[in-house]
Amino acid sequence: MKFIGAHVSASGGVEAAPVNASEIGANAFALFTKNQRQWVARPLTEESIRVFKENCGKLGFDSRYILPHDSYLINLGHPEEEGLQKSRAAFLDEMQRCEQLGLKLLNFHPGSHVKQGVDTGIEYIAQMLNEVLDKNQHTKVLLETMAGKGTEIGRSFEELQMIIEKVELNNKLGICLDTCHIYDAQYNIVDNLNGVIDELDKVIGLDRLCAIHLNDSKNPFASHKDRHELIGKGYIGIDTFNNIVSNEKLRNIPMYLETPNDMEGYAKEIAM
Ligand code: FE
Ligand code: FE
Ligand code: ZN
Repeated sequence: MKFIGAHVSASGGVEAAPVNASEIGANAFALFTKNQRQWVARPLTEESIRVFKENCGKLGFDSRYILPHDSYLINLGHPEEEGLQKSRAAFLDEMQRCEQLGLKLLNFHPGSHVKQGVDTGIEYIAQMLNEVLDKNQHTKVLLETMAGKGTEIGRSFEELQMIIEKVELNNKLGICLDTCHIYDAQYNIVDNLNGVIDELDKVIGLDRLCAIHLNDSKNPFASHKDRHELIGKGYIGIDTFNNIVSNEKLRNIPMYLETPNDMEGYAKEIAM
C-alpha cells in the first residue's frame, strides 16, 4: 500500500488531526503538536492524548505514518546562548509530546547558522542533538532537507550527513526529503530523479530516508527561496510527481503534502 497524506490542522487539539486527515482521504498525516509560532505551549492533557490515540486507532492511522513537525522558532544552530537554550528546551518538549502521543517520528529543520558559518552551525546542531537524544526514546528525529534560504543548514546531503556523523545516537536520526526544498537547493529531480536518489544513497544512505514532503515549487531550479506550490502548478511539474510516486526505491516511504491548500484541495491532490 502507498501512504500519502497531508499536513493537517490540529487546531482545537491534536486529536482533531486524525479526523481532518480522514476527511481528506489520507492514510498518513503530518501535524504540529503545538502552536508552531509560539515558544511555550500548555502540556497535552491526558484527555487529548487519549482521544488522539483513540481517533488514530478508529480511523486506521498507524504511528509509522504520522509525522509531527517541530516549531518554526527552534534553531539548534543558534549563534547565541540564550536562543540555543530556548531552542533546546522547546525541542525537548517536542520530543516529549511525541513520546506521550506514542509517535515514532519527529521532523525538524536542522537550523540556521545566522552569521557564524556553516561548519560552526553544524557543530552546534550536532552538539544539541547529542544533549537531547536519549537512548531509550522511541521517537526517531528526521532532519529535513532544506532549500538553503538565508543561512539555513541542510541545503545539501553532505551537510546533513556531517551532522549525522557527529551525533553519537545517530540510530535515532533519519531524513525527510522535501521535493520543493531539494529542487530549490539545486538537486534536479525534474531532469534526473534517479540520479538524485542515487546521490542521496551514496552520501547518506537510503536506509535513513523515512519520509517525503511532496511540494511543487513557485520558483525555478536552484532559487533557494522555499515557496511551496500546488502539485503540478509549479516548476517541478506533474510528470516529476508521477515519477516520484511510482519510483521503485521510494515505494515504502510515506509522503506528505505541504502545498498551499484547503481541505478540499488536499483531498484532490491525494486522490490525484
Ligand atoms: Fe518543514
Ligand atoms: Fe517540508
Ligand atoms: Zn518549505
